[in-house]
Amino acid sequence: MKILVIEDEKKIASLIRKGLEAQGFVVDVSHHGDEGYAAVTTRPYDAVVLDIMLPGRDGLSILRNLRERKLSVPVILLTARSELNERLEGLNLGADDYLTKPFFIEELIARLHVVTRRASGASQSILAVADLTVNLLTRDVTRAGRKIDLTAREFELLEHFARSPGRVLTRPQICERVWNYDFDPGTNLVEVYIQRLRKKVDGESDMKLIETIRGVGYRMKPDS
Ligand code: CA
Repeated sequence: MKILVIEDEKKIASLIRKGLEAQGFVVDVSHHGDEGYAAVTTRPYDAVVLDIMLPGRDGLSILRNLRERKLSVPVILLTARSELNERLEGLNLGADDYLTKPFFIEELIARLHVVTRRASGASQSILAVADLTVNLLTRDVTRAGRKIDLTAREFELLEHFARSPGRVLTRPQICERVWNYDFDPGTNLVEVYIQRLRKKVDGESDMKLIETIRGVGYRMKPDS
């Protein structure tokens, strides 16, 4: 698995490189935003570990540009404890996960495994989370074998959750992906649909799969 680390603090970058290489990852390191962006747009990587504050292009600009160019390489942001706004913006821009410095290398490795597994599963036709199955070809949805009828929008919303269990989707992200709004309409549209989906998907089950992450958004319960 090939990972690009864009981090200007050389000590941190080198610790990450050593830790990942010890686990069999192939690692490229870039200490500059422009150089890192050039690397990720010209070479294939399985994931990018991206610092926010960088010389040249900063991490959030890199992420924004990647997603604008429809490059879906998984991105894990490295953020400082104080960078709450940047972290939320990063998730809005399509980061797959983030880690707050300082972190344990084992945690980064675990998250890299999760985001790359998700990415490689993107082309499969049946998504399964716990006892939920979502068939992308027939658009059949079942929970514990019981068929669930969903409207087209509800299906689309569920598909986004089921594609990446554990990943938090913010309200603006959901608006953009399900309704193609590039703005937050400021209504409770998302809440209404989440509620409907919950009723249909979680209503009769003890295990609630659709979770609210307070102040951030919603996610599908990660596989345990
Ligand atoms: Ca930095």
